[in-house]
Amino acid sequence: MNPAPTPSALMANYGHPELQFARGQGVYLYTADNQRYLDFTSGIAVNCLGHCHPHLVKALQTQAETLWHTSNLFSIIPTERLAQRLVDLSFADRVFFANSGTEAVECGFKMMRRYHYHHGNKARTRIITLTQSFHGRTLAPVAACRNPLHTEGFLVGDSGFDQVPFGDLEALQAAITGQTAGVILEPVQGEGGIRAAPTEYLQAIRDLCYEHGILLMFDEVQSGMGRTGYLFAHEALGVQPDILASAKGLGGGFPIGACLSKEHVAEVMTAGTHGSTFGGNPLATAVGNAVLDVLTGPGFLDTVSERAGQLRAGIDELTQRYPGLIGGHTGLGLMVGLKCLGSNADMIKALQAQGMLAVKAGGNSIRLLPPLIISAQEVEEGLALLEKACQSLV
Ligand SMILES: *Cc1c(COP(=O)(O)O)cnc(C)c1O
Repeated sequence: MNPAPTPSALMANYGHPELQFARGQGVYLYTADNQRYLDFTSGIAVNCLGHCHPHLVKALQTQAETLWHTSNLFSIIPTERLAQRLVDLSFADRVFFANSGTEAVECGFKMMRRYHYHHGNKARTRIITLTQSFHGRTLAPVAACRNPLHTEGFLVGDSGFDQVPFGDLEALQAAITGQTAGVILEPVQGEGGIRAAPTEYLQAIRDLCYEHGILLMFDEVQSGMGRTGYLFAHEALGVQPDILASAKGLGGGFPIGACLSKEHVAEVMTAGTHGSTFGGNPLATAVGNAVLDVLTGPGFLDTVSERAGQLRAGIDELTQRYPGLIGGHTGLGLMVGLKCLGSNADMIKALQAQGMLAVKAGGNSIRLLPPLIISAQEVEEGLALLEKACQSLV
């Protein structure tokens, strides 16, 4: 392993990671001295088509030789096209493009408040969130999630969020007041420990939102873009939001975020209400279009579900064989949580020693987020490395 430079000129907020990669190809990452790692992080669910997918590389190269940036003072060809395609493929009628997940969420928060303001309900400003949620690192999402690690020393006053326990419908119902603007949740929680919201729970929240005239927003920054075998996870769960945040896989590794919504919400975002200099940049949306080309290709999402079934069946076997180490799997599709019975940090280290990469998550679990292009053989390889890691830990 060739370590990253120390001391580093970077701030210490990510710690100082030792592992550094020089290149990537498909599901593999390579160090400068050519050590190969099977990448089950996908840049935290970002590189949905693996590393250097030829269709994405070509789209970026072609756009780079054509037009980089004009700003939203002008209509942008690939951006108009990506918005229309997302609308055609989803519940949504309109799209706002941002550069990251947290900005996509932020746009949704603003829309929730502006919606009620527009309709003369100026008191409806508060947003209900769930425990163990993660919506990003700018101030509003940090205030929304109330993770002490992320809030300490950063917040001023009451930022306008009310939090209720995940899964507790009665608490959510009790939290709805005349000041409530809406609810935000991840249909499948990511960072907090891979956890899918039960369908009946989601449906009940949907019904409550209709009943009280408040808005429902899904944060699908991690669970969206094919990760669950559906373009968006809520399609698997059968409940539609009014607003949805997307990012991560949307650009396959190129930074982009998007806030999607129904027309009755989008109509309040009149000229001048919101904006972003880089949002909808042609390089980002050209790559976004290329990602969609692949995700919507014949049988692609079905194959994701098949690979997920294979990976989960393999984990079931390992759960039987290593009952002291693995407590089963959670999540949906290729958004896999592996419950660790020992320390999740030790499991990540043991995997790394075998040449496989995974991400930590809450609830003492690890996230297995392979690129969606993973082959059956590569899934087998991942399971074999996982088994070796378990052997090294018993
Ligand atoms: C990663 C993530 C975000 C934040 O995205 P950034 O691009 O890091 O700002 C928000 N919500 C969820 C569910 C995420 O997984």
